Amino acid sequence: MKFITLAQSLGQLEAIASRNQMTEVLADLFSRVTYQEIDWVCYLVLGRLKPKFSGVEFNLAEKMMVRVLSRAIGQSEAESLKLFKQTGDLGEVILKLKTSNSKLKIRKSLEIKDVYNSLLKIAEEAGEGSVERKLNKMAVLLSQLDPLSAKYVVRIPVKKLRLGFSDMTILDALSWMQTGDKSLRPELERAYSVSADIGRIARVFKQQGLNGLKQIQVEVGIPIRPALSERLPNAAKIVEKLECFAVEPKYDGLRVELHLDKTRKVELSEGLFKQQSSFIQIYSRNLDNITHMFPEVVLAVEQLPVKQAIFDGEAIGVHPQTGKLLSFQETIQRRRKHNIKQMLSQVPIKVFIYDLLYLNGRAVFKQPFSQRRQLLEKILTKRQNGLVLTEQTKVNNVKQLRYLLDKYLQQGLEGIMCKKLDEPYQAGGRNFNWVKFKKNTEGKLVDTLDCVVMGYYPGKGKRVGFGIGAFLVGVSDAETIKTVAKIGTGLTDDQWREMKKRCQQIRAPKCPNSYIVNKNLYPDFWCQPKIVVEIMADEITKSPIHTAGLALRFPRLVRFRDDKDIDQITTLKELKKLHQLQTSMLS
Ligand code: AMP
Repeated sequence: MKFITLAQSLGQLEAIASRNQMTEVLADLFSRVTYQEIDWVCYLVLGRLKPKFSGVEFNLAEKMMVRVLSRAIGQSEAESLKLFKQTGDLGEVILKLKTSNSKLKIRKSLEIKDVYNSLLKIAEEAGEGSVERKLNKMAVLLSQLDPLSAKYVVRIPVKKLRLGFSDMTILDALSWMQTGDKSLRPELERAYSVSADIGRIARVFKQQGLNGLKQIQVEVGIPIRPALSERLPNAAKIVEKLECFAVEPKYDGLRVELHLDKTRKVELSEGLFKQQSSFIQIYSRNLDNITHMFPEVVLAVEQLPVKQAIFDGEAIGVHPQTGKLLSFQETIQRRRKHNIKQMLSQVPIKVFIYDLLYLNGRAVFKQPFSQRRQLLEKILTKRQNGLVLTEQTKVNNVKQLRYLLDKYLQQGLEGIMCKKLDEPYQAGGRNFNWVKFKKNTEGKLVDTLDCVVMGYYPGKGKRVGFGIGAFLVGVSDAETIKTVAKIGTGLTDDQWREMKKRCQQIRAPKCPNSYIVNKNLYPDFWCQPKIVVEIMADEITKSPIHTAGLALRFPRLVRFRDDKDIDQITTLKELKKLHQLQTSMLS
């Protein structure tokens, strides 16, 4: 397919607000490409070249792209910069300049494959002088493209090709392509959950249909979507529902999925990784590649007495002198791109491993938890350089459960995880195989919510100086975001400053299409759905004004959740369940 055809679909997608229409446009596009192209198209419509977990990034700032753009069109940099400042969108700038200059007529239109390969080469440029080479190649590519194609291509390296949908919409569209409805979504999602590479799923589905999907196996190097937990109101309900289960401490750190393959050798001669020779990758809860942030974990994983494995666990910082576990805020300092060496000694990491999903060529995630645990115990026989087997106690009565909750709370932990022993690992799913149980605050909300910041209001009184006095947050409902709270208190001065800074970086010119907001709550400034915040509240109440139909009473910010992205915020369904839990606890 010609790239211009893809660009036309991108144009359509950009103009659409309705999720169903987007799904239809995508389905139509998918039906017209070949199976050899469909994976590239999936990544490109998401504004990427590879799945997030591959770690392929452009690292080109908008300012640099202004330079590229001038070179591509033969225009002065000052002129391009002026236009960029007016519109704030490189895509519009290049579209305008290319359309208005008849000398720039393009005779030959490029195939998707050509554009994709050129972009990939640019992203993969590394080493000395790589920035200059990237800029030159990008300028050449842009000069070869028609105005509409250039508009979308220029947005990719600067991460501005936001069309407002995720991998999940692509799964719906794949189903739509085949059946004209979303009925195949469960099968597609099942395959995606064990092999979270959207391009791979699309290619297999396009070429081999449902049968192909069924053959998709877990592979080291492609993340499995993490299992999630449910909530229940009290200890008695947990024992009643789970019957015989294991209790583990619930650590408040960063979820890590560790992938190891000693049969795949890599050559890494650089700095902190120079002692490593096997293929090792670390993925976050939202499937980002975070390997380079934890070199000591990589080296520890390589020492494990197995050939291939995938582990699930929690990374948490420890005090360098006392060895005590650190808070989430301290641990999250390790989620960074730079100064990693320095942080190694300041915030050393321990990984509590609690599950095994793959071992020596075999997927084991479908085995009952008790069997997976036995395998894990054979691998983690001692504390292997900061890799620790998570403590576990088998439980079948309320007294024991309460005792363990108290024990771990006294140790300063968040609570406990109760896990059914006879169940498989529920990749990507939230069900009662895992139930989290946190401190019971007598009728008050027993858990925090992960919400997205939708917009903000300027400050009044003391907060005039911060430029922000309140912000609006929401939860997700299918692909829409509905409001649950306007938060104007409970932040420290530093948190207000931080919030303002973050909001300003992602201001949206108008209410984003996916937001459903009552007019009376319209914020003065809208934000793109990017910032995930953890919110504590006293209670969930019914609300006529918040579009979720429920609202948070006395909401306050607990922390920014940079480890989660928009796909992982609390859903309206969960909020309703929490509301029911709260009601049942009070009655
Ligand atoms: P939540 O994010 O509150 O739904 O809780 C689930 C999260 O708890 C998981 O994503 C893990 O990051 C974390 N966690 C901490 N300890 C454990 C454990 N022992 N088992 C499973 N998850 C755990």
